[in-house]
Amino acid sequence: MSARKGVVYLVGAGPGDPGLMTARALELIASADAIFHDRLIPPGALDGARSDAELAYVGKAPGAPSVPQDEIGERLVAAAQAGKSVVRLKGGDPFVFGRGGEEGEALRDAGVEFEVVPGVTAGVAASAYAGIPVTHRDDASAVAFVTGHEDPEKSETALEWDALARFPGTLVFYMGVKRLGENAETLIAAGRDPAEPAAAVERGTMDGQRTVVATLATLAEAVEREGVGAPALIVVGPVVQRREALAWLERRPLHGRRVVVTRARAQTSGLAATLRALGAEVIELPAIRIEPRLGSEEVRGAIDSIEDYALICLTSPNGAQLLFEALAATGKDARALAGATVAAIGPGTARALAEHGIAADVVPERFVAEALVEALADVEVAGSRILVARAAEARDVLPEALRERGAEVDVVALYETVREQPAAEAVEAAQGADYVTFTSSSTVRNLTEALGDRFPRGARVVSIGPVTTEAARDAGLEVDVEAERHDIDGLVAALLADASR
Ligand code: SAH
Repeated sequence: MSARKGVVYLVGAGPGDPGLMTARALELIASADAIFHDRLIPPGALDGARSDAELAYVGKAPGAPSVPQDEIGERLVAAAQAGKSVVRLKGGDPFVFGRGGEEGEALRDAGVEFEVVPGVTAGVAASAYAGIPVTHRDDASAVAFVTGHEDPEKSETALEWDALARFPGTLVFYMGVKRLGENAETLIAAGRDPAEPAAAVERGTMDGQRTVVATLATLAEAVEREGVGAPALIVVGPVVQRREALAWLERRPLHGRRVVVTRARAQTSGLAATLRALGAEVIELPAIRIEPRLGSEEVRGAIDSIEDYALICLTSPNGAQLLFEALAATGKDARALAGATVAAIGPGTARALAEHGIAADVVPERFVAEALVEALADVEVAGSRILVARAAEARDVLPEALRERGAEVDVVALYETVREQPAAEAVEAAQGADYVTFTSSSTVRNLTEALGDRFPRGARVVSIGPVTTEAARDAGLEVDVEAERHDIDGLVAALLADASR
């Protein structure tokens, strides 16, 4: 079920790893009219949002001006009362030190309907990624989530340190780094064992997660020495020792390696995911971007008379997606294609059509224009009107072949692909890369041109095969590793072998 109008969803985004977002969170993000989000949400969390959704950052960054809590409540109420479906996206779980309770109360007071979508909370997730089970049959039968940083405006402390010192189980402190020294002393003074194992987990489940282990008495000093910063979680209890056997994150084959992947083709997102699963920190540098051209006269003309086409050909998933956006802009939908034969250049394009309720009539096996021409051999085209909807810079193989067979062909550019300058942050992160991967000669050109003298010279260059290697050499790079099998799996295997040298 997607988002309802006039409802606010208080949604947990999990602790940072995008893979730990719930299915429900992703579904609501994809259908919301408005999304109000915090600072600590996973990278790419909003990628699935509708392109026309209103996105607003209402977070609190330490030391920076932040949107007051009352105002957040007011904005949520206003958006819901305007009939929008609203997602309020918060780090971790909205009801665990997330002020979700207060926001729910504000909504209730204003008579606005809301729902709560729990998230994976940092106390559980960061510990698990550090190999620390918060409970264990032999070590801890209870766990307490505790704030390490009480609201300084509160006059009296709400924490009963004596009770916490006696608590028979694991103590997990959120927001506990700044006052770690003080809190540990208070606990020890109240009777907690100074020799009890304790850990700080920095950036749990995120790139660069780090765990520092010491004792209750010495953790503050260790955290200071190692420069542990926010966000970090403090875990106190004998379970911390289980990490010796249970630490798994650091044992993955590419742990601690930073790898650059150029996002220029659909397949590379598969590459990024595979590398991440092996423990690598992946920097994706986009080198091209899709620029829709839905407002052009040719697009509008084609959409106005879309019912007149006997055959409609789509040559990319982006094209299929944008065709429906163009239809929607004029109040039309999939029914406008009811009378036409619909051809897709490949399975990805066919899937994009299927998402809008259209089962393509023609899908060739190889997805190049020549194959589509072949697959269309049996379709009667002479004298009929055909629409080829595609990218501006595509080849003319398909329209030419159709015209030769006597068709009247309209070629319409729904979008163009333009070179994109990667974000300064990503370029900066790439400087410390251990590897740069290239999956095609065009990614070599895109990336080397985009980075110029900011190309990370210290990184080892991994190429998918000889053609790409040659392009890299032409661009003045030295190729350190070339895959034996010239596909994504082959490239990953070559990188793994190199990393374990
Ligand atoms: N609602 C959130 C907690 C918000 S309070 C949740 O359920 O997780 C913010 C505190 O959570 C931080 O100070 C830190 O102690 C902890 N935290 C959040 N994300 C974290 C992460 N990825 N790793 C370690 N601690 C984290």
